[in-house]
This record gives sequence, structure tokens and C-alpha cells, in this order.
Amino acid sequence: MSMLDQKIVLITGAASGLGRSAAIRCAIDGARLALVDVNSAGLLETKAAVLALCPKAEMLLEEADVSSEDQVRAYVDQTVARFGGVDGFFNNAGIEDRQATTEDVDGDFFDRIMAVNARGVLFGMKHVLKVMAAQGHGRIVNTASALGIRGAGRQAGYTASKHAIVGLTRNAALEYGALGIGINAIAPGAILTPLVEASLRQVDPQDWQAAASAFVAHNPMRRMGTPDEVASVVAFLLSTGAAFVNGAVIPIDGGQSAQY
Ligand code: NAD
Repeated sequence: MSMLDQKIVLITGAASGLGRSAAIRCAIDGARLALVDVNSAGLLETKAAVLALCPKAEMLLEEADVSSEDQVRAYVDQTVARFGGVDGFFNNAGIEDRQATTEDVDGDFFDRIMAVNARGVLFGMKHVLKVMAAQGHGRIVNTASALGIRGAGRQAGYTASKHAIVGLTRNAALEYGALGIGINAIAPGAILTPLVEASLRQVDPQDWQAAASAFVAHNPMRRMGTPDEVASVVAFLLSTGAAFVNGAVIPIDGGQSAQY
């Protein structure tokens, strides 16, 4: 039997990058999918990518902005109406920062990044946990970042939002472990997705690939990760194979966060 056979897996940020790769991985592993994003055209592309590999995959596409609690409640309700519950939740949607030193932080953008990255993850857990608590089981993976456990400079809002996700994960893991629910965070390093490419274009607008090379020179593996290298960890954490992993923050960064 596949690792996620017939499991109901809800994924936010599913129109691109890590969310899309996780959708493909979970479908290969047998899951039924509820895919959420603000970008409905991207969701259709994800659906096509999943069906290309898994023609029988069951999928619900839901357009929603995770920073709105009403829209979060709606995507959870629609998932339960279609599939009857939520076994696994990849709470992943997020936006990148605008490169700026602390004295130049824009207040409105700081509020927006906290609203999407931190509030979106909090309210995702809030509404999914009601469902999982009633079921008596469930597994959640929140997407933090290497910048949820370390700093890099020039990313105050992103770093604050990702540290918040680590705190929200540990807090909820303590509350819900006794109900049979496991809640963990992943802390990816640089994984080549549209979000990271956009950040590198800010670092070096003329040559983002030079900025990428400079960045990976400090990585023990001397490269960026790929979205499928994150997706395989996410699928495992959502499965019962990881049943006793709870409250963990798991770096997926080639060892970069281990170095002094
Ligand atoms: P991406 O830009 O490719 O995908 C992010 C997705 O989130 C997009 O489809 C976007 O439309 C969606 N999204 C953005 N705002 C939303 C909102 N308000 N409501 C619903 N959906 C929204 O980026 P990615 O690299 O796949 O990033 C996914 C997650 O991984 C983010 O939380 C990001 O911070 C985190 N992350 C990425 C990396 C990396 O190297 N790529 C590293 C660490 C953490």
C-alpha cells in the first residue's frame, strides 16, 4: 500500500513551487487532494501536472487568500464537504520579502507579510485542527524556513514571520499531541522556486544566477535544493510513518544551518 493511500491531504500555496511538488508527490503516494491558492490559473497547471502522472487522482481546487480567516474557514469547509475530513495538512502558502535593512522596512508590507505567512498559517491550523480534533487524528506540516531558525539580513518581515511559524508549531504541537495529532515545521534552505528566483533578482537585478552561485558557495552541498527534495520529506511527515514526530522543526538545507 502507498504511504498516503486514500488519505485526504490539504495543501496551501499549491499553485507553484513547493506546494505543487508536494501535490504531485502526495498524489503519487495515493492521496486525495484539496489544493488551495490565490492563483487559480496556477492551480489548474498543478492539476494538469498531477494528472499527467496520476490520471486517477481525485482533486478539489479552491481559490482562497490565506490571510483572510473567512476564506480559510471556507477552504476547510469545502474540503470537508467534498472528502469528509482532513488527514494531512501542508500549511505552506507564503510570500517573499522586499530586500531592505531594518531602518528601511515598510510598515504596510511588514503587516502584509505577517498576514500571509504567519496569520495564514495560524488560521489554517485553527480551522483544520477543529476537524482533526473531532476525527481524533491528523498530521500538519507548516512551512517555516531556514530564516525561521537563523537570520540572513535585509529580510526583517520574512524572518519575523518564519520565526513566528516555528513558535506557532511548537505551541500547537504541545496542545494537540494528546489528541493523536502531530504538528511539525519544515525549514527549507534555498530551493529553486519562483519565490527564490524573485528574491535573487532583488539581490542582483542584472544577474540573478550570479547571486545564486554566490549563495550556494556557502552551502555544504554547494547547491540549491529542488522542490521534489522538499516534497518527499513533507509526504513522509504527513504519513503515519512519522507518527511519533511532533513539535519538530526539520531543516531541509543541505546542512547549511548546521554551520557556525
Ligand atoms: P512560490 O512563490 O513558488 O509558491 C508560493 C505559492 O503561495 C504561490 O502559488 C502563491 O500564489 C501562493 N500564495 C501567496 N500568497 C498567498 C495567499 N495570500 N493565499 C494563498 N496562496 C498564496 O514559492 P515557494 O518557494 O514554493 O514557497 C512556498 C513556501 O515555502 C513559502 O511559505 C515560502 O516562504 C517557503 N520557503 C521557500 C523556500 C525556497 O527556497 N523556495 C525556502 C524556505 C521557505
